[in-house]
Amino acid sequence: MKKLDFASKPIDENFFENPQEYPLTGYHKGHAVRAEGKQRYDEHGKPYPTKLGIHGTNVAVDWDSCIADGSCMESCPMNGFEWALAEGKTGKGNDLPIEEGTELWVKYRTDKADPVNEAECIYCNACVVACPAGAISVAKRVELSSQKV
Ligand code: SF4
Repeated sequence: MKKLDFASKPIDENFFENPQEYPLTGYHKGHAVRAEGKQRYDEHGKPYPTKLGIHGTNVAVDWDSCIADGSCMESCPMNGFEWALAEGKTGKGNDLPIEEGTELWVKYRTDKADPVNEAECIYCNACVVACPAGAISVAKRVELSSQKV
């Protein structure tokens, strides 16, 4: 179990309907990123130590909540995820170890599940159920071209 200095909170399932709180802030590997750079609050009402936002256009992972458990990767039948920092790797124990106090730790705390293959998603919700942090929400398909930065 990783040592954490924040209390992970489940993703806000209504974030798609609340663009003022979760504005589209960019794109990463073909998917939308929302609320990057915005201070948000953990389960205890304390500021999350990171401001990484929510990654994914349709398969959305709250990176400030993600604790690098890896269950989403092991449950997905479509290989929807890979580790953001250990690129090309998936699954429990294959995330990039991050030493406390380093630059990576300040920015990320833990590796993050990156929904790099969300185009193949079949909307089975297995990742949503598997994530122990409740960090994932799978929405109806949203076309990237219909969104504005
Ligand atoms: S909903 Fe199913 S297919 Fe889509 S990313 Fe999650 S586990 Fe994979």
